[in-house]
Amino acid sequence: VQTLAEQSASAIDFLDSIGAHLSDVGKAGGASTNRSHRPVDEAGKILSVGSYLVPIFEQAAKDNNVTFYMETEATEILMNEGTAVGVKASSADTDYTINAKAVILATGGFGGNLEMVESYKPELKGYVTTNASTITGDGIKMAEAVGANLVDMAEIQIHPTVVQSNGALITESLRGDGAILVNNEGNRFTNEVLTRDVVSANIIAEEGSAAWLIVDQKMFDDSNVIQGYVNKGYMLKGDTVADLAKVMEVDEAALQATLDNWVAMVKAGEDKDFGRDDLATVKYDLSTAPYYAVKIAPGVHHTMGGVEINTNTEVMNASGEVIPGLYAAGEVTGGVHGGNRLGGNAVADIIVFGRIAGQNAATYTTK
Ligand SMILES: Cc1cc2nc3c(=O)[nH]c(=O)nc-3n(C[C@H](O)[C@H](O)[C@H](O)COP(=O)(O)OP(=O)(O)OC[C@H]3O[C@@H](n4cnc5c(N)ncnc54)[C@H](O)[C@@H]3O)c2cc1C
Repeated sequence: VQTLAEQSASAIDFLDSIGAHLSDVGKAGGASTNRSHRPVDEAGKILSVGSYLVPIFEQAAKDNNVTFYMETEATEILMNEGTAVGVKASSADTDYTINAKAVILATGGFGGNLEMVESYKPELKGYVTTNASTITGDGIKMAEAVGANLVDMAEIQIHPTVVQSNGALITESLRGDGAILVNNEGNRFTNEVLTRDVVSANIIAEEGSAAWLIVDQKMFDDSNVIQGYVNKGYMLKGDTVADLAKVMEVDEAALQATLDNWVAMVKAGEDKDFGRDDLATVKYDLSTAPYYAVKIAPGVHHTMGGVEINTNTEVMNASGEVIPGLYAAGEVTGGVHGGNRLGGNAVADIIVFGRIAGQNAATYTTK
């Protein structure tokens, strides 16, 4: 955690150096201040961080002559006398043996493998996932097969705001910017910016174990992300609060009272109902019609457990020794985020530890 924190600022500088500018800083759940760096377009509209970063990483890797094997699955880490010396991989028509002086695992977590999720945390049976089906836990299994120690495997995060029909994530930064959650009666029921586990539990305790997230026209105008949700049909729209209540099928008077009360509390800078402590500085006050609402409930989102590493990103075995030649970074690793990964910290994790892994593996190969 110390490494993550101390190197996060230079990670932002590194991103700037390859043309990835995370110039806006928003708030995520559980954070005491604004810490989530995110990209904006030329008009200042907020963009989704993942789809912004990945093409820039891909280009930076290509500029450095990295060879890509697309649609090719790594299946095994090759070992020689306890040292990692390459991988086996297969595509639809070719099997590869790739000999290497070092191996870096960056295969992500296992949030898209619901069988594996359930095997480590049975109470998550039946949950949807925000992860792509390619987030399989393969790297964790390959590392375990060569003696890597696994830590915190049952620490699996559910994210509070997920569209249940397809697992689409409604980003936490909307709540950080001022969106509210209401229940099926049209009432607020929680401080929206508590940690993900607490907000999820508060939603599950409501009738139907679901809730609505509400934004206004001003938030919509400033966010490509929200416009994307509307275009994909996730959000209902009402020209007035009463119209929105009708399409949500919640009590009109209750929703109107909730919004009126919220706008007044933001103006006064104090959340008298649920003690949300950022009302004096929150970016939007939800005072501008029309309004938009999306029905959400919790879904599997992040797997905090994985391969044990040290601060040099070297993979450790069960006896606490380094497995020579084997490095890991990102969601494939465990232990960095404890039991509750904070919003934005996964991007910090992959940049900080990805760079350390690259630098150390490069040094190792020249020894
Ligand atoms: C919808 C969504 C939104 C998110 N938003 C944020 C956010 O705003 N901020 C934040 O900090 N975090 C966010 N996260 C979390 C963050 O995206 C992940 O933690 C992060 O992408 C993990 O990066 P990674 O490089 O470790 O692995 P990944 O990005 O998961 O990449 C791993 C890659 O390895 C591939 N792979 C797996 N197995 C194999 C194999 N056997 N052979 C070859 N390839 C393999 C996978 O297909 C994948 O392409 C979000 C997650 C989701 C699902």
